[in-house]
Amino acid sequence: MGTFHFDPRMMVSGPFINCPKCHHVTFGILAVHDNSYDRRCKNCLYPKGSESSASYVLPELNKKIIYLDQFAISNMMKVLNPNTDAYKKGRIDDYWLRLYERLDSLCKMQLITCPDSEFHNNESLVTGFYKQLKRLYELLSHGGTFYGKETIKRFQLEEHFINWLDGKEDESIDIDVNSIVRGNINSWTDKFIISVEVEMNVDLVETIRRIREQTHNGLEGVFQYWHDSKITDFSYWYRMEIESFGKGIINEYLKQLNKIMGIEEVESYIELYPTSSTLMINRMQDILNERGIEELSSVWYKITQYFNTANFGNLPFLHLSASLFASIARKAGAGRKKPPNKGTANDIEMISTLLPYCDAMFIDNECASYMKEKPFSDNIGFPTRIFSQSNKEEFIEYLNEIESGTPMEHISKVNEVYGESWKLPYVTLYKD
Ligand SMILES: [Zn+2]
Repeated sequence: MGTFHFDPRMMVSGPFINCPKCHHVTFGILAVHDNSYDRRCKNCLYPKGSESSASYVLPELNKKIIYLDQFAISNMMKVLNPNTDAYKKGRIDDYWLRLYERLDSLCKMQLITCPDSEFHNNESLVTGFYKQLKRLYELLSHGGTFYGKETIKRFQLEEHFINWLDGKEDESIDIDVNSIVRGNINSWTDKFIISVEVEMNVDLVETIRRIREQTHNGLEGVFQYWHDSKITDFSYWYRMEIESFGKGIINEYLKQLNKIMGIEEVESYIELYPTSSTLMINRMQDILNERGIEELSSVWYKITQYFNTANFGNLPFLHLSASLFASIARKAGAGRKKPPNKGTANDIEMISTLLPYCDAMFIDNECASYMKEKPFSDNIGFPTRIFSQSNKEEFIEYLNEIESGTPMEHISKVNEVYGESWKLPYVTLYKD
Protein backbone atom coordinates (compact mmCIF):
# COMPACT_ATOMS: atom_id res chain seq x y z
CA MET A 1 0.00 0.00 0.00
CA GLY A 2 1.47 3.34 -1.02
CA THR A 3 1.39 6.35 1.29
CA PHE A 4 0.26 9.75 0.17
CA HIS A 5 3.16 12.14 0.21
CA PHE A 6 2.22 15.80 0.52
CA ASP A 7 4.40 18.00 -1.62
CA PRO A 8 4.16 21.72 -0.64
CA ARG A 9 5.18 22.56 -4.22
CA MET A 10 1.70 21.50 -5.30
CA MET A 11 0.30 24.56 -3.55
CA VAL A 12 2.29 26.96 -5.71
CA SER A 13 0.92 28.00 -9.09
CA GLY A 14 1.76 30.51 -11.79
CA PRO A 15 2.42 33.16 -12.89
CA PHE A 16 6.06 32.75 -11.92
CA ILE A 17 8.69 35.45 -11.49
CA ASN A 18 12.36 35.39 -10.53
CA CYS A 19 12.98 33.93 -7.06
CA PRO A 20 14.94 36.40 -4.85
CA LYS A 21 16.72 33.44 -3.23
CA CYS A 22 17.54 30.79 -5.86
CA HIS A 23 17.06 33.08 -8.92
CA HIS A 24 15.02 30.57 -10.89
CA VAL A 25 11.79 31.74 -12.53
CA THR A 26 9.83 29.67 -10.03
CA PHE A 27 8.52 32.27 -7.58
CA GLY A 28 4.75 31.67 -7.90
CA ILE A 29 1.45 32.29 -6.15
CA LEU A 30 0.77 30.48 -2.88
CA ALA A 31 -2.55 32.05 -1.88
CA VAL A 32 -4.83 34.97 -2.69
CA HIS A 33 -6.50 36.66 0.28
CA ASP A 34 -9.20 39.37 0.44
CA ASN A 35 -6.74 42.20 -0.21
CA SER A 36 -3.29 40.66 -0.45
CA TYR A 37 -1.52 37.64 -1.88
CA ASP A 38 1.45 35.44 -0.94
CA ARG A 39 4.23 34.07 -3.09
CA ARG A 40 6.43 31.03 -2.64
CA CYS A 41 9.19 29.45 -4.68
CA LYS A 42 8.35 26.14 -6.30
CA ASN A 43 12.07 25.30 -6.49
CA CYS A 44 13.67 26.26 -3.14
CA LEU A 45 10.41 26.75 -1.23
CA TYR A 46 11.43 30.26 -0.13
CA PRO A 47 10.09 31.62 2.21
CA LYS A 48 10.22 28.73 4.67
CA GLY A 49 10.93 28.13 8.35
CA SER A 50 11.68 31.40 10.09
CA GLU A 51 11.78 33.45 6.86
CA SER A 52 9.02 36.07 6.90
CA SER A 53 6.27 35.45 4.36
CA ALA A 54 6.34 37.06 0.92
CA SER A 55 3.09 38.98 1.09
CA TYR A 56 1.88 41.68 -1.31
CA VAL A 57 -0.93 44.16 -0.74
CA LEU A 58 -3.65 44.34 -3.42
CA PRO A 59 -5.61 47.50 -4.28
CA GLU A 60 -9.20 48.02 -3.17
CA LEU A 61 -11.87 46.76 -5.54
CA ASN A 62 -15.21 48.23 -6.53
CA LYS A 63 -17.04 45.37 -8.25
CA LYS A 64 -20.36 45.87 -9.97
CA ILE A 65 -23.11 43.85 -8.31
CA ILE A 66 -25.11 41.97 -10.91
CA TYR A 67 -28.17 39.87 -10.16
CA LEU A 68 -29.03 36.99 -12.48
CA ASP A 69 -32.51 35.58 -12.43
CA GLN A 70 -32.87 31.83 -12.12
CA PHE A 71 -33.86 31.43 -15.80
CA ALA A 72 -30.43 32.80 -16.78
CA ILE A 73 -28.63 30.44 -14.39
CA SER A 74 -30.71 27.57 -15.69
CA ASN A 75 -30.10 28.31 -19.39
CA MET A 76 -26.36 28.76 -18.86
CA MET A 77 -26.20 25.44 -16.99
CA LYS A 78 -28.01 23.72 -19.88
CA VAL A 79 -25.81 25.18 -22.59
CA LEU A 80 -22.70 23.99 -20.72
CA ASN A 81 -23.90 20.64 -19.45
CA PRO A 82 -23.85 17.70 -21.92
CA ASN A 83 -26.08 15.67 -19.56
CA THR A 84 -29.18 17.78 -20.07
CA ASP A 85 -31.80 16.95 -22.72
CA ALA A 86 -31.75 20.52 -23.93
CA TYR A 87 -28.01 20.27 -24.62
CA LYS A 88 -28.32 16.92 -26.39
CA LYS A 89 -31.04 18.24 -28.65
CA GLY A 90 -29.14 21.47 -29.27
CA ARG A 91 -32.16 23.48 -28.20
CA ILE A 92 -30.37 26.19 -26.24
CA ASP A 93 -29.70 29.56 -27.83
CA ASP A 94 -25.96 30.21 -28.06
CA TYR A 95 -26.70 33.56 -26.40
CA TRP A 96 -26.43 31.76 -23.05
CA LEU A 97 -22.93 30.55 -23.82
CA ARG A 98 -21.86 34.05 -24.83
CA LEU A 99 -23.41 35.47 -21.67
CA TYR A 100 -21.72 32.88 -19.47
CA GLU A 101 -18.35 33.58 -21.10
CA ARG A 102 -18.69 37.30 -20.45
CA LEU A 103 -19.83 36.88 -16.84
CA ASP A 104 -17.20 34.31 -15.91
CA SER A 105 -14.46 36.37 -17.49
CA LEU A 106 -15.49 39.62 -15.77
CA CYS A 107 -15.78 37.81 -12.42
CA LYS A 108 -12.24 36.53 -12.80
CA MET A 109 -11.07 40.01 -13.74
CA GLN A 110 -12.50 41.09 -10.35
CA LEU A 111 -14.79 43.59 -12.08
CA ILE A 112 -18.18 42.12 -11.24
CA THR A 113 -19.76 39.69 -8.83
CA CYS A 114 -23.14 37.97 -9.08
CA PRO A 115 -24.27 37.16 -5.52
CA ASP A 116 -26.55 34.18 -5.17
CA SER A 117 -29.71 34.15 -3.08
CA GLU A 118 -32.35 32.01 -1.40
CA PHE A 119 -34.32 32.37 -4.65
CA HIS A 120 -31.58 30.55 -6.55
CA ASN A 121 -31.34 27.91 -3.87
CA ASN A 122 -35.08 27.29 -3.61
CA GLU A 123 -35.72 27.31 -7.32
CA SER A 124 -32.78 24.98 -7.96
CA LEU A 125 -33.91 22.54 -5.28
CA VAL A 126 -37.17 21.81 -7.07
CA THR A 127 -35.40 20.82 -10.30
CA GLY A 128 -33.53 17.57 -10.94
CA PHE A 129 -30.28 19.54 -11.33
CA TYR A 130 -29.73 21.06 -7.92
CA LYS A 131 -25.99 20.39 -7.64
CA GLN A 132 -25.23 21.46 -11.20
CA LEU A 133 -27.18 24.72 -10.82
CA LYS A 134 -25.57 25.42 -7.45
CA ARG A 135 -22.15 24.84 -9.00
CA LEU A 136 -22.84 27.49 -11.62
CA TYR A 137 -24.28 30.20 -9.40
CA GLU A 138 -21.51 29.69 -6.85
CA LEU A 139 -18.90 29.99 -9.57
CA LEU A 140 -20.29 33.44 -10.38
CA SER A 141 -21.00 34.52 -6.79
CA HIS A 142 -17.79 33.18 -5.31
CA GLY A 143 -19.69 32.45 -2.13
CA GLY A 144 -21.34 35.88 -1.80
CA THR A 145 -24.97 35.23 -0.79
CA PHE A 146 -27.76 37.74 -0.19
CA TYR A 147 -29.48 37.49 3.17
CA GLY A 148 -32.99 36.06 3.10
CA LYS A 149 -35.77 38.33 1.85
CA GLU A 150 -37.50 38.56 5.23
CA THR A 151 -34.26 39.61 6.90
CA ILE A 152 -33.70 42.36 4.33
CA LYS A 153 -37.28 43.58 4.83
CA ARG A 154 -36.84 43.64 8.59
CA PHE A 155 -33.58 45.63 8.34
CA GLN A 156 -35.25 48.21 6.10
CA LEU A 157 -38.42 48.45 8.16
CA GLU A 158 -36.44 48.93 11.36
CA GLU A 159 -34.52 51.87 9.93
CA HIS A 160 -37.65 53.34 8.35
CA PHE A 161 -39.53 53.09 11.66
CA ILE A 162 -36.68 54.78 13.56
CA ASN A 163 -36.58 57.59 10.97
CA TRP A 164 -40.33 58.05 11.37
CA LEU A 165 -40.05 58.20 15.17
CA ASP A 166 -37.29 60.80 14.81
CA GLY A 167 -39.44 62.90 12.47
CA LYS A 168 -37.04 62.20 9.59
CA GLU A 169 -39.35 60.13 7.46
CA ASP A 170 -38.27 61.77 4.23
CA GLU A 171 -34.76 60.50 4.71
CA SER A 172 -33.93 57.61 2.44
CA ILE A 173 -32.89 54.29 3.91
CA ASP A 174 -29.15 54.03 4.08
CA ILE A 175 -28.32 51.18 1.72
CA ASP A 176 -25.10 49.27 2.13
CA VAL A 177 -24.75 46.09 0.15
CA ASN A 178 -22.06 44.77 2.50
CA SER A 179 -24.55 44.64 5.35
CA ILE A 180 -26.91 42.28 3.51
CA VAL A 181 -24.53 39.92 1.72
CA ARG A 182 -22.69 37.09 3.48
CA GLY A 183 -19.09 37.04 2.33
CA ASN A 184 -16.88 39.94 1.27
CA ILE A 185 -18.03 41.25 -2.11
CA ASN A 186 -14.96 43.35 -2.82
CA SER A 187 -12.37 40.73 -2.02
CA TRP A 188 -9.81 39.43 -4.48
CA THR A 189 -11.01 35.91 -5.15
CA ASP A 190 -9.02 32.79 -4.47
CA LYS A 191 -8.38 30.53 -7.43
CA PHE A 192 -10.30 27.70 -5.90
CA ILE A 193 -13.98 27.62 -5.13
CA ILE A 194 -15.01 25.88 -1.99
CA SER A 195 -18.56 24.71 -2.31
CA VAL A 196 -20.42 23.30 0.64
CA GLU A 197 -22.24 20.13 -0.28
CA VAL A 198 -25.76 20.20 1.05
CA GLU A 199 -27.92 17.16 1.41
CA MET A 200 -31.21 17.32 -0.44
CA ASN A 201 -34.06 17.65 2.01
CA VAL A 202 -37.23 16.11 0.60
CA ASP A 203 -39.48 17.89 3.12
CA LEU A 204 -37.96 21.22 2.22
CA VAL A 205 -38.52 20.61 -1.48
CA GLU A 206 -42.17 19.80 -0.77
CA THR A 207 -42.56 22.92 1.38
CA ILE A 208 -41.07 25.13 -1.34
CA ARG A 209 -43.47 23.65 -3.91
CA ARG A 210 -46.46 24.04 -1.59
CA ILE A 211 -45.70 27.66 -0.64
CA ARG A 212 -45.14 28.50 -4.27
CA GLU A 213 -48.49 27.00 -5.22
CA GLN A 214 -50.31 28.81 -2.37
CA THR A 215 -48.70 32.14 -3.22
CA HIS A 216 -49.66 31.77 -6.85
CA ASN A 217 -53.24 30.80 -6.01
CA GLY A 218 -53.43 33.85 -3.76
CA LEU A 219 -52.23 36.10 -6.58
CA GLU A 220 -54.74 34.54 -9.01
CA GLY A 221 -57.54 35.33 -6.56
CA VAL A 222 -56.43 38.94 -6.14
CA PHE A 223 -56.03 39.24 -9.90
CA GLN A 224 -59.70 38.37 -10.37
CA TYR A 225 -60.63 41.04 -7.81
CA TRP A 226 -58.52 43.63 -9.66
CA HIS A 227 -60.10 42.58 -12.93
CA ASP A 228 -63.68 42.91 -11.62
CA SER A 229 -62.97 46.32 -10.07
CA LYS A 230 -62.25 47.89 -13.50
CA ILE A 231 -60.05 50.44 -11.70
CA THR A 232 -57.07 51.40 -13.86
CA ASP A 233 -55.48 54.06 -11.67
CA PHE A 234 -51.91 53.11 -10.78
CA SER A 235 -51.68 55.33 -7.70
CA TYR A 236 -54.95 53.95 -6.33
CA TRP A 237 -53.57 50.41 -6.41
CA TYR A 238 -50.20 51.55 -5.11
CA ARG A 239 -51.90 53.09 -2.05
CA MET A 240 -54.03 49.97 -1.54
CA GLU A 241 -50.91 47.79 -1.49
CA ILE A 242 -49.21 50.01 1.06
CA GLU A 243 -52.25 50.18 3.33
CA SER A 244 -52.80 46.45 3.21
CA PHE A 245 -49.18 45.85 4.15
CA GLY A 246 -49.60 47.37 7.63
CA LYS A 247 -52.95 45.65 8.19
CA GLY A 248 -51.50 42.34 7.02
CA ILE A 249 -48.60 42.51 9.45
CA ILE A 250 -50.79 43.41 12.42
CA ASN A 251 -53.36 40.72 11.58
CA GLU A 252 -50.74 38.05 11.14
CA TYR A 253 -49.12 39.09 14.41
CA LEU A 254 -52.40 38.92 16.34
CA LYS A 255 -53.30 35.58 14.76
CA GLN A 256 -50.06 34.09 15.94
CA LEU A 257 -50.48 35.61 19.38
CA ASN A 258 -53.84 33.82 19.61
CA LYS A 259 -52.19 30.55 18.69
CA ILE A 260 -49.47 30.98 21.29
CA MET A 261 -52.05 31.82 23.94
CA GLY A 262 -54.15 28.80 22.98
CA ILE A 263 -57.11 30.92 21.81
CA GLU A 264 -56.72 29.59 18.30
CA GLU A 265 -56.00 25.94 17.51
CA VAL A 266 -52.78 24.82 15.87
CA GLU A 267 -52.24 21.75 13.75
CA SER A 268 -48.48 21.64 14.08
CA TYR A 269 -45.97 23.20 16.47
CA ILE A 270 -44.30 24.74 13.42
CA GLU A 271 -47.14 27.27 13.41
CA LEU A 272 -45.79 28.58 16.71
CA TYR A 273 -42.44 29.56 15.22
CA PRO A 274 -42.23 33.33 14.93
CA THR A 275 -43.36 34.53 11.50
CA SER A 276 -41.69 37.47 9.84
CA SER A 277 -44.61 39.67 10.98
CA THR A 278 -44.02 38.64 14.58
CA LEU A 279 -40.32 39.40 14.28
CA MET A 280 -41.04 42.80 12.74
CA ILE A 281 -43.57 43.80 15.41
CA ASN A 282 -41.33 42.49 18.21
CA ARG A 283 -38.50 44.59 16.90
CA MET A 284 -40.71 47.68 16.76
CA GLN A 285 -41.82 47.04 20.35
CA ASP A 286 -38.18 46.79 21.46
CA ILE A 287 -37.35 50.06 19.73
CA LEU A 288 -40.27 51.79 21.48
CA ASN A 289 -39.33 50.26 24.85
CA GLU A 290 -35.77 51.53 24.44
CA ARG A 291 -37.27 55.00 24.03
CA GLY A 292 -39.28 54.73 27.22
CA ILE A 293 -42.60 53.88 25.58
CA GLU A 294 -43.48 50.77 27.53
CA GLU A 295 -47.18 50.73 28.27
CA LEU A 296 -48.86 48.26 25.91
CA SER A 297 -51.60 50.63 24.75
CA SER A 298 -49.06 53.37 23.96
CA VAL A 299 -46.88 50.89 22.08
CA TRP A 300 -49.80 49.77 19.93
CA TYR A 301 -50.95 53.33 19.42
CA LYS A 302 -47.52 54.19 17.98
CA ILE A 303 -47.33 51.09 15.80
CA THR A 304 -50.78 51.57 14.26
CA GLN A 305 -50.09 55.29 13.84
CA TYR A 306 -46.91 54.40 11.98
CA PHE A 307 -48.68 52.03 9.60
CA ASN A 308 -51.51 54.50 9.01
CA THR A 309 -49.54 57.70 8.53
CA ALA A 310 -45.89 57.07 7.62
CA ASN A 311 -44.62 57.73 4.12
CA PHE A 312 -43.85 54.29 2.76
CA GLY A 313 -42.66 55.57 -0.58
CA ASN A 314 -39.12 55.43 0.77
CA LEU A 315 -39.30 52.00 2.35
CA PRO A 316 -37.55 50.29 -0.57
CA PHE A 317 -39.05 46.79 -0.55
CA LEU A 318 -42.60 48.05 -0.02
CA HIS A 319 -42.34 50.85 -2.58
CA LEU A 320 -41.05 48.40 -5.20
CA SER A 321 -43.49 45.58 -4.51
CA ALA A 322 -46.45 47.98 -4.32
CA SER A 323 -45.39 49.48 -7.67
CA LEU A 324 -45.09 46.05 -9.30
CA PHE A 325 -48.45 44.86 -7.95
CA ALA A 326 -50.08 48.15 -8.96
CA SER A 327 -48.71 47.61 -12.49
CA ILE A 328 -50.47 44.25 -12.72
CA ALA A 329 -53.62 45.53 -11.00
CA ARG A 330 -54.21 48.37 -13.41
CA LYS A 331 -53.79 46.01 -16.37
CA ALA A 332 -56.30 43.63 -14.80
CA GLY A 333 -58.65 46.57 -14.18
CA ALA A 334 -58.28 47.57 -17.83
CA GLY A 335 -59.52 44.15 -18.94
CA ARG A 336 -56.53 41.84 -19.01
CA LYS A 337 -57.80 38.29 -18.45
CA LYS A 338 -54.61 36.26 -18.29
CA PRO A 339 -53.35 36.05 -14.70
CA PRO A 340 -49.61 36.47 -14.08
CA ASN A 341 -47.52 33.32 -14.53
CA LYS A 342 -46.46 31.06 -11.68
CA GLY A 343 -43.12 32.73 -11.13
CA THR A 344 -44.43 36.29 -10.91
CA ALA A 345 -45.12 36.46 -7.16
CA ASN A 346 -41.63 35.11 -6.54
CA ASP A 347 -40.08 37.57 -9.02
CA ILE A 348 -41.77 40.47 -7.24
CA GLU A 349 -40.34 39.34 -3.90
CA MET A 350 -36.89 39.00 -5.43
CA ILE A 351 -36.88 42.33 -7.27
CA SER A 352 -38.37 44.32 -4.40
CA THR A 353 -35.86 43.05 -1.84
CA LEU A 354 -32.67 42.87 -3.94
CA LEU A 355 -32.89 45.66 -6.52
CA PRO A 356 -31.60 48.45 -4.25
CA TYR A 357 -28.34 46.56 -3.76
CA CYS A 358 -27.61 45.80 -7.41
CA ASP A 359 -25.93 47.81 -10.17
CA ALA A 360 -27.74 45.71 -12.75
CA MET A 361 -30.33 42.96 -12.84
CA PHE A 362 -31.18 40.47 -15.54
CA ILE A 363 -34.82 39.56 -14.90
CA ASP A 364 -38.00 38.16 -16.39
CA ASN A 365 -39.58 40.05 -19.34
CA GLU A 366 -42.89 40.65 -17.58
CA CYS A 367 -41.53 42.49 -14.54
CA ALA A 368 -38.95 44.29 -16.67
CA SER A 369 -41.72 45.63 -18.90
CA TYR A 370 -43.65 47.03 -15.90
CA MET A 371 -40.53 48.91 -14.87
CA LYS A 372 -40.43 50.64 -18.26
CA GLU A 373 -43.97 52.03 -17.91
CA LYS A 374 -44.84 55.41 -16.47
CA PRO A 375 -45.32 56.39 -13.67
CA PHE A 376 -43.24 53.51 -12.26
CA SER A 377 -40.33 54.09 -14.66
CA ASP A 378 -39.91 57.66 -13.34
CA ASN A 379 -40.15 56.60 -9.74
CA ILE A 380 -38.09 53.46 -9.24
CA GLY A 381 -35.86 55.35 -6.83
CA PHE A 382 -32.64 53.46 -7.61
CA PRO A 383 -30.17 53.70 -10.50
CA THR A 384 -30.14 49.91 -11.06
CA ARG A 385 -29.96 48.98 -14.75
CA ILE A 386 -32.71 46.54 -15.73
CA PHE A 387 -32.23 43.97 -18.48
CA SER A 388 -34.34 41.08 -19.68
CA GLN A 389 -34.58 38.74 -22.65
CA SER A 390 -36.24 41.50 -24.68
CA ASN A 391 -33.03 43.54 -24.58
CA LYS A 392 -30.56 40.74 -23.92
CA GLU A 393 -27.91 42.04 -26.33
CA GLU A 394 -27.87 45.33 -24.43
CA PHE A 395 -26.95 43.35 -21.35
CA ILE A 396 -23.87 41.98 -23.17
CA GLU A 397 -23.01 45.52 -24.28
CA TYR A 398 -23.32 46.70 -20.68
CA LEU A 399 -20.86 43.98 -19.62
CA ASN A 400 -18.49 44.88 -22.46
CA GLU A 401 -18.52 48.50 -21.34
CA ILE A 402 -17.51 47.48 -17.83
CA GLU A 403 -14.45 45.80 -19.28
CA SER A 404 -13.55 48.55 -21.73
CA GLY A 405 -13.74 51.18 -18.99
CA THR A 406 -11.24 49.39 -16.78
CA PRO A 407 -7.93 51.16 -16.09
CA MET A 408 -4.76 49.41 -17.34
CA GLU A 409 -3.31 49.27 -13.81
CA HIS A 410 -6.19 47.04 -12.78
CA ILE A 411 -5.70 44.68 -15.72
CA SER A 412 -1.98 44.35 -15.01
CA LYS A 413 -2.66 43.65 -11.33
CA VAL A 414 -5.05 40.85 -12.34
CA ASN A 415 -2.41 39.44 -14.68
CA GLU A 416 0.21 39.66 -11.94
CA VAL A 417 -1.91 37.63 -9.51
CA TYR A 418 -3.70 35.17 -11.78
CA GLY A 419 -1.83 35.15 -15.07
CA GLU A 420 -3.03 36.28 -18.49
CA SER A 421 -4.94 33.15 -19.41
CA TRP A 422 -6.93 33.26 -16.17
CA LYS A 423 -9.71 35.38 -17.58
CA LEU A 424 -10.50 32.84 -20.30
CA PRO A 425 -13.98 31.51 -19.52
CA TYR A 426 -14.25 28.14 -17.85
CA VAL A 427 -16.61 26.39 -20.25
CA THR A 428 -15.80 22.81 -19.30
CA LEU A 429 -17.08 22.85 -15.73
CA TYR A 430 -19.46 19.94 -16.37
CA LYS A 431 -16.99 18.05 -18.55
CA ASP A 432 -13.88 17.85 -16.34
ZN1 LIG B 1 13.71 29.88 -5.08
